Amino acid sequence: MEKVAHKRRIVLVPLPLQGHVTPMMHLGKALTLKGFSITVALGQLDQVSSWQHFPGYQFITIPESLPLSEVKALGPVEFLIKLNKTSEASFKDCISQLLIQQGNDIACVIYDDLMYFCEAAAKEFKLPSIIFSTTSATHKACFSILNKLNPKKFLIDMEDPELQNKVVENLHPLSYKDLPIAGFGPLERFVELCKEVVNRRTASGVIINTVTSLESLSLTRLQQEFGIPVYTLGPLHITAASTTYSLLEEDRSCIEWLNMQKPRSVIYISLGSIFDMGTKEVLEMAWGLCDSNLPFLWVIRDGSESLPEEVSTMVSERGYIVKWAPQIEVLRHPAVGGFWSHCGWNSILESISEGVPMICRPFQGEQKLNAMHVESVWRIGIHVGGEVERGGVERAVKRLMIDEEGADMRERALDFKEKLKASVRSGGSSYNALNELVNLLKTE
Ligand code: UDP
Repeated sequence: MEKVAHKRRIVLVPLPLQGHVTPMMHLGKALTLKGFSITVALGQLDQVSSWQHFPGYQFITIPESLPLSEVKALGPVEFLIKLNKTSEASFKDCISQLLIQQGNDIACVIYDDLMYFCEAAAKEFKLPSIIFSTTSATHKACFSILNKLNPKKFLIDMEDPELQNKVVENLHPLSYKDLPIAGFGPLERFVELCKEVVNRRTASGVIINTVTSLESLSLTRLQQEFGIPVYTLGPLHITAASTTYSLLEEDRSCIEWLNMQKPRSVIYISLGSIFDMGTKEVLEMAWGLCDSNLPFLWVIRDGSESLPEEVSTMVSERGYIVKWAPQIEVLRHPAVGGFWSHCGWNSILESISEGVPMICRPFQGEQKLNAMHVESVWRIGIHVGGEVERGGVERAVKRLMIDEEGADMRERALDFKEKLKASVRSGGSSYNALNELVNLLKTE
């Protein structure tokens, strides 16, 4: 009997920010290795040019999407709500044209959970769809808790310290005050967004870039709540054995500089692709790093020329500054002993994958949640709270890089590194989950 060929093309819809693009493209790579072709749908024409160096993918544009430049004016929550409204009809047109072009050969639409407008097109054209969450399972679980809240009552309840410290059921040690709501404007609107993001509509599964050994409690909770398969495929940069998907140009000269440093002597500082320190904080950070007498590699996206004059010579004598680093390679380098991080989820996974302990300096809610896990659950790092001042920076760096407690953290981080490696090897949890996902994609 003639074998029926399965549909091969997968449409990926990332949120076009580095922290969301990277894991989505790793997923694309993993699916390419399993024999699928990839189309990436992007919201902005001007972005497409910087994506063209990702070989092997087809790119299409959703014309009526909202430009990212609107985030500043609207704030993240209003931006996302508006983006989803404006893109829905336009994305339907894109899919309709793509179906004609591809002779109906679309196996599935996989979209970032913040791009929930995609589901309407999938439903209209009876295409299978899968939701992709680029943050932690715990963060996703928090969204479903927030989804059930009455915002007004919650804000009143949170004035009671007992309720603030009440542990969230099945998410120990998370308490209600830790729910990631800071930095997202009025709670009512944020809860509205959460409702949309956790509504699975007609999707057949949820992919999360995490690992069972890191977040088993939250994953169990999510499995129960969603009632559809939850595929834990992380860390995707290892599952897919991927290269970089950097939207900015990486300065590789820092690898040569690292080659000249002693093993585990360097602290790497990066605050991801969005957040920046204020001038005062930069100054205190610079003094603290120099006072620690340890070599450091510091990502400053505006470059060393933006450093206050009084510290710029001192910093360039003792450390190395780049505008954008090849982060995974840096963390993998034997000279790197610690990571000062804002605790974006990708950075966390990349650091744990290389067994590098962390100093956590989160800015907003989700990063605070991640920092709490690093410090109190996995015990592989130190959280630096309050105002950044030079003495605090120096102490934190020495605790991590020199003291015995830092050595213990490193040991635990190296244990996790092994667990993560095992999860992507044949028979491991992420390896198996990827095969289950592929089976679903072939049979849908
Ligand atoms: N990154 C990089 N070079 C840098 C700084 C960051 O390649 O100099 C990458 C990093 O490897 C990670 C991503 O940018 O994959 C940042 O994502 P994350 O979730 O950590 O933070 P976000 O930028 O979303 O706040």
